[in-house]
Amino acid sequence: MLGLFKKTCMFCDGTAAKGFRVPDRKKGFVCGDCYQRWLSAGRKCTACETPVTGAQEVGAFVEQRTLGHADCGGLRLFR
Ligand SMILES: [Zn+2]
Ligand SMILES: [Zn+2]
Repeated sequence: MLGLFKKTCMFCDGTAAKGFRVPDRKKGFVCGDCYQRWLSAGRKCTACETPVTGAQEVGAFVEQRTLGHADCGGLRLFR
């Protein structure tokens, strides 16, 4: 039953067990690695190019394969 709990990441196409669900997309999933990469890169929103601060909601930009503000059109992430 290998891979039973793994999901495919929308950004890197890798599979991971840990990450974030994107309920607005069928099988929407962003892996923890992609999220961490985005954090270390400065949490920059792909839409408005300013950082997403702690009080703002993070959203997934599927076409750009990166993250940004949910308010800028990103799809909300859920743990
Ligand atoms: Zn990924
Ligand atoms: Zn933004």
